[in-house]
Amino acid sequence: MVGALPGSTAELTIIILPIQILTMLEVNGLTKYYGDLCAVNDVGFRIDEGEFVTLLGPSGCGKTTLLHMIAGLREPTEGEVTLRSENVTNLPPEERNIGMAFQSTALFPHMTVRENIAYGLRMHGYDEEERHARVQEFLELVDLPNHDDHRPGELSGGQQQRVSLARALAYEPDILLLDEPLTGLDRVLREEMRQWLMTLQRELGVTSLYVTHDQEDALSMSDKVVVLDDGEIQQVDHPQAIYEQPVNDFVAEFVGKSMQFSGPIRNDGPRPFVDAGDTCVVLPNDSVSSDREEVSLYVRPEDVNIEAAQATADGGATTVAATEENAFPGTIEKVSNLGNRAEVTATLESGETALASTNRFPHLEVGDEVLVTFDSESVIVL
Ligand code: ADP
Ligand code: MG
Repeated sequence: MVGALPGSTAELTIIILPIQILTMLEVNGLTKYYGDLCAVNDVGFRIDEGEFVTLLGPSGCGKTTLLHMIAGLREPTEGEVTLRSENVTNLPPEERNIGMAFQSTALFPHMTVRENIAYGLRMHGYDEEERHARVQEFLELVDLPNHDDHRPGELSGGQQQRVSLARALAYEPDILLLDEPLTGLDRVLREEMRQWLMTLQRELGVTSLYVTHDQEDALSMSDKVVVLDDGEIQQVDHPQAIYEQPVNDFVAEFVGKSMQFSGPIRNDGPRPFVDAGDTCVVLPNDSVSSDREEVSLYVRPEDVNIEAAQATADGGATTVAATEENAFPGTIEKVSNLGNRAEVTATLESGETALASTNRFPHLEVGDEVLVTFDSESVIVL
């Protein structure tokens, strides 16, 4: 006889809990005046746990000031800093659990690497045994396991940056602040460090705010980019949106290169277009709101084609194709071969400058007559 086993009728209950994303850092209305100069004006954004956020902007736009206010190294004129839902605006730096690695790495030159890292741990209350274990662990993490007895002066720039990072990470900060850590490194090392830093950040899952004036850093590393100019936030978005859908002229011009036009929108053709002097640029289908008369247009170099113009029977270059949508005759000004691709500059007959990113080593030379084309859907209208 097959009887029911005790408990076999018990129902399995699965409780699905919503995944709670913790806001690690929030700044609100953060403002800093130095005398009459407003260095940071009413800045607000948030960073979720584990996110890698880049603060991108030109030199002097207020990035370091903003970072220092978050760290507690500078007092805001107005506004609030919240860390793990706690208002820390009035707490001194040592009472905020924040890790910092700055541009001019503030390693103590008279201390060894070990002492430098242990110093940060001591400040955060780790006892000697823990300090010893953690120094070793984090030196291994930054690939410098045998450098504990070196002094900073005996290390390369890149190695010093890694020690500085180990020091900032060893006490497990709520958030890691990095102020232009790759500035001053050469191109190859910079790229290597970028990759290394990203891997490390993802592995540790440490929430990070990375300050840079370098758009490549921002676009290649971040979950989210905060674009700052003149102390004010311009756009907060994913890297792709920052590049493909900039919200204003500053973002469009600061992040990436482009071909530019400006002029009034006209609706008296089969499709809306912009009358940019001697050039008419057909616009994307969904972009035109009739209440905006004067607009700026941007086309990214990856969306621009430059081809040698077809010769006509009488020896001249044809301009027939120029009557097509967004096709303009021009002359090559410059060909920059960059190895894996090339950047080609041409001057249009109407006077504008066209910039195209092409396949490597294109068969084009300065002075060649060309046809510059792009799809109307690739035009960014601002
Ligand atoms: P960034 O880091 O983006 O280069 P900063 O935050 O260092 O910008 O500087 C923002 C503005 O504030 C600049 O105009 C700079 O000259 C000014 N500034 C920065 N620190 C001070 C200071 N301690 N006293 C007066 N002005 C300052
Ligand atoms: Mg700075």
